[in-house]
Amino acid sequence: MACDANGTGRAIRAAAAVVAEHRAELVELDRAIGDADHGENLNRGFTAVLSALDAGPPETPAAVLKTVATTLISKVGGAAGPLYGTAFLRASGALGSASEVDIDGLVAALRAGLEGVKARGKAEVGDATMIDALAPAVEAAEAAAKQEGADIAAVLTAAADAADRGYESTVDLVPRKGRASYLGERAVGHADPGARSTALLLRAFAEAAR
Ligand code: ADP
Ligand code: MG
Ligand code: MG
Repeated sequence: MACDANGTGRAIRAAAAVVAEHRAELVELDRAIGDADHGENLNRGFTAVLSALDAGPPETPAAVLKTVATTLISKVGGAAGPLYGTAFLRASGALGSASEVDIDGLVAALRAGLEGVKARGKAEVGDATMIDALAPAVEAAEAAAKQEGADIAAVLTAAADAADRGYESTVDLVPRKGRASYLGERAVGHADPGARSTALLLRAFAEAAR
């Protein structure tokens, strides 16, 4: 089963709803080790994404993701806006002009998104950023895609499960990138807000695909 532009739009709308629902939680995570704006930043961005999708429904999955990317880049300040914007832009590029996303396209898009965040932010696994959720998610998606009878929902569920574990791993890490890195050792014991939002977005996509 593949996912067309409408299905992609539904997944993005589901993600926007989850961001709105978890806005306060993301703010509190960022308050502990940052500047308490991650939930506001993302919610502002995804609210604008909903308006953009309503204004002119894009015709391909790649066009949906490109709308998400350009909207997040223009509306979300801070570190996360350009990083998520880059992720969605690279994912859009990986899909090309296809009318539907299949498993191979999905895995390629996830991989491209990860590489985009790494290129832009220069963080690696273990630096206590969104990479700690996204990198294991992409690996889990690639492994799940090779399983007999794999479908898009199974691949995204594997990715979301891995992202949850990756998010949890950030509690014990010393942040080496972004605002939280200013705290150094004092940030140990606090989970990373961007890793949390990445895990939430992937869970929303997985639920939308079921
Ligand atoms: P800001 O820190 O500018 O206020 P946000 O609060 O919206 O931005 O986002 C913070 C999140 O961005 C962090 O929790 C972390 O996951 C992510 N982040 C920050 N810098 C980087 C980076 N260089 N690479 C990857 N992710 C990063
Ligand atoms: Mg912040
Ligand atoms: Mg900020």
